[in-house]
Amino acid sequence: MISSEMLRLGTSRSVIRELFEYGNQRAAVVGREHVFDFSLGNPSVPAPPEVAALLAKLVCEDPVSLHGYTSAPGAPEVRAAVAEDLNRRFAAGVSADHLYMTAGAAAALSACFKALALPGDEFVAIAPFFPEYRCFVEQGAGAKLVVCPAAQDFQIDLSALEGCLNEHTKAVIVNSPNNPSGAVYTRETLTALADLLRDASARYGHPIYLISDEPYREIVYGVEVPWLPALYGNTLVCYSWSKSLSLPGQRIGYALVPPCVEDWQQVYAAVCGAGRALGYVNAPALFQRVVAQLPGNTADLSVYRENRDTLYNALVEAGYECPRPDGAFYLFPAVPGGDAGAFSRRAMEKDLLVVPGDGFGCPGHVRISYCVQPEMLRRSLELFRRLARSE
Ligand code: PLP
Repeated sequence: MISSEMLRLGTSRSVIRELFEYGNQRAAVVGREHVFDFSLGNPSVPAPPEVAALLAKLVCEDPVSLHGYTSAPGAPEVRAAVAEDLNRRFAAGVSADHLYMTAGAAAALSACFKALALPGDEFVAIAPFFPEYRCFVEQGAGAKLVVCPAAQDFQIDLSALEGCLNEHTKAVIVNSPNNPSGAVYTRETLTALADLLRDASARYGHPIYLISDEPYREIVYGVEVPWLPALYGNTLVCYSWSKSLSLPGQRIGYALVPPCVEDWQQVYAAVCGAGRALGYVNAPALFQRVVAQLPGNTADLSVYRENRDTLYNALVEAGYECPRPDGAFYLFPAVPGGDAGAFSRRAMEKDLLVVPGDGFGCPGHVRISYCVQPEMLRRSLELFRRLARSE
């Protein structure tokens, strides 16, 4: 006998992956330029040239130490450099001792969930949400994912959230800038969220943690992304350089347990223990070195703003309903007729690939990942217009 749960996870591809594979098959038949693939959140801009220059330099160093294991939480000098950058940018007041380097945000989230979860615990996600939360929380950490719908404008609906909290609530997961809505939670929303969680923690007699999943922190269009630990003490931050430096395949990120978390030493040690239980050993050593030496550096992210403007303006003009996203590289319009699956299938017939919102906990919408070449985006607009007219 093997685990039926794991078998199910291993044999059911996500809708996003299905669409992506389908796009590759179609490209082989009709040519890549005739497939309008908006399925995957894979950055379309290259990593900055400093990454290649640094790699060329690093590979000439002593290979034994370069490729060796690092300390389990990450090389101390790497963690110190990342902490210094966070202190400079957010006055975070953290040191190497608060950072656990990970294989991307996915590993950071998995370690945090597992570190906190007891049987029967609940983690609340605000829909629409990154679909992998479900398997990280439920199969990875043995807890329950509770889904709370967002407000109309994709900000947090605080009264709906209040209704989702109870004595079993261990944490609320927030992801801003958001995948898939592109919403960036305002300071006002987050301050009210912090008040709500403080009250609920007092009411239920235990801390309700906030887990801030922020791989899109740097991809914003003229709005601020508040630093959550400054608003709410019991916040764990999960970050990665997948999107900001366009390094998703290299798997590098961190979990941060800042000193404002109650009993932070215990929580931090539990995050390290969860990483150990999950077999992570240490985050990729070479890319720990890369990110440590490029503080504050990003890829040229300007094309995402250009794409946001082109796509948002065209869709609204064509009659789609969609709050204007302030960050990330996704648009999440409501589909005419309300059936996202049917819309996505009709789009597929035109070799236009968009992801139904059902898996994000928000039926009736589709996710359009606009991390694509602007030229391809412009050629796709007529197809979106035809779909709006049901052609
Ligand atoms: N969280 C969100 C909201 C994401 O969109 C993604 C990836 O797309 C992740 C986490 C995982 O990121 P990483 O590639 O750094 O593991």
